[in-house]
Amino acid sequence: MDAAQLDALIDNPPPQYFPRPQGWDDDDQVRDECGVFGVYGHPEAARLIYLGLYSLQHRGQEGAGIVCADEGALSAHRGVGLVSDVFKPHKLARVKGAQGIGHVRYSTFGNNNLKNVQPLVVDYRSGSMAVAHNGNLVNAGVLRDELEDKGAIFQSTTDSEVILHRISRSDGSTFTECVIEALRDVMGAYSVVIMDGDEIVAARDPYGFRPLWLGKLDDSYIIASETCALDIIDAERVREIAPGEVVTINRNGVHTQRPFDPVVPKQCIFEYIYVSRPDSDIFGASVDEVRKNMGRELARHAPVEADVVMAVPDSSNPAALGYAHESGIPFDMGIIRNHYVGRTFIEPEQGIRDFGVKIKLNPSRSAIAGKRIVLVDDSIVRGTTARKIIKILRSHGAKEIHFRISSPQIVNSCHYGIDTPNPSRLIAHNMTVDEIRDYLGVETLSYLPIDALVAATGGAREHFCLGCFNNDYPTQVPGDFQFRAPHNRHVDHSTELLGQ
Ligand code: AMP
Repeated sequence: MDAAQLDALIDNPPPQYFPRPQGWDDDDQVRDECGVFGVYGHPEAARLIYLGLYSLQHRGQEGAGIVCADEGALSAHRGVGLVSDVFKPHKLARVKGAQGIGHVRYSTFGNNNLKNVQPLVVDYRSGSMAVAHNGNLVNAGVLRDELEDKGAIFQSTTDSEVILHRISRSDGSTFTECVIEALRDVMGAYSVVIMDGDEIVAARDPYGFRPLWLGKLDDSYIIASETCALDIIDAERVREIAPGEVVTINRNGVHTQRPFDPVVPKQCIFEYIYVSRPDSDIFGASVDEVRKNMGRELARHAPVEADVVMAVPDSSNPAALGYAHESGIPFDMGIIRNHYVGRTFIEPEQGIRDFGVKIKLNPSRSAIAGKRIVLVDDSIVRGTTARKIIKILRSHGAKEIHFRISSPQIVNSCHYGIDTPNPSRLIAHNMTVDEIRDYLGVETLSYLPIDALVAATGGAREHFCLGCFNNDYPTQVPGDFQFRAPHNRHVDHSTELLGQ
């Protein structure tokens, strides 16, 4: 495929390669993940959750919500946008109680649609309950069909709602037993916090695709996707919740169990590459340290003579530093990121090309002109960001550009919660490394091999999911299941206004 064909493909995407039914979260944009947070037993639960979500904002910028329980009664506030947009003091004050859960969301179907913003809250025969979920359930379509065939009415298009329906139908004798029964036939990725009026249950799927932490603040317990969210409230890091572990927090304290059949964990290596914050520890290691190691490995694997090492900020900063340390080539901040790009900015209608990337990233001219540059990015997905940045560096006088990627080629989609586009839009699915080099217009291009990536983590290869790099998925994927394409899901425009 040549450059013109690829550009045309990016402008006119073909139908989905994997038959994710229309109406489920299947648009073609690359998005971040989700983040979850929970507090049990603190009078300022809602404020703590707000701060926790603030720290997890990088995991989802499209919607946020908090649900708290006050003497058994749940109250919620959810909205579309960044945490600081959704929660003004008077709105936070309405969410009362000493226990609660919160969520930041990455993906919305179609327009920003409040009905998909989590935590999802429902009333059922035993009271009220709410769920905040990070990950993707691969058999959600089948489970939803089964439930709809029995008359279930769904309020959202998220896979997470299936969990609530299954809890409500479960005949377990405690809330935790109902949750365990509900999760038993659920396949795929979940780091989830679920609450009723009395307790919080946190669970991580047996493969442990997504991170989840248990923390403690004075006498209260905290659940968080990443440690950066424990740090912001000065909570003690108790431990990572283990793959397959279910933790119940209630007035009797913390109770933990491993009710599912054990499997070899398959933690998502892309959490280390891109998703998690560098100041977090996940899967037993510091994200910052692992990313620096990736840069060091990359410098050993693909050395080059150059004047300066630069990152595509911010996610690639540690890997670029690692490359600079290992190679001895000085690091420079050649590209500056604007951190204040909100959801809505006024874009010129015509005449300014590449505006999208320029609003976020701008090169510092003196650092670039006449230089032989090693440019480090953490990943290439569709190749659009890289192509634009490289054009800008060239127009500012870069003499040579040696592009180094601190991950292997992404050749297939993620089914467990990283929203990569369908394979036909992944540049490395369509082109060889040499073709990509020519398409991007760089002197040299190198990716980090899988073995070097794993070595950078300090972990064992069999403990990671590498499916997007090697097609080796630990579970069945949605395309393996027969399920109905949802018909004409309604869109409620009024709920968008509520989110403002
Ligand atoms: P692309 O332009 O599609 O090739 O995207 C590559 C850029 O997006 C890189 O600079 C990455 O840091 C960043 N990136 C990688 N994965 C994701 C993701 N899941 N969500 C958002 N951005 C991503």
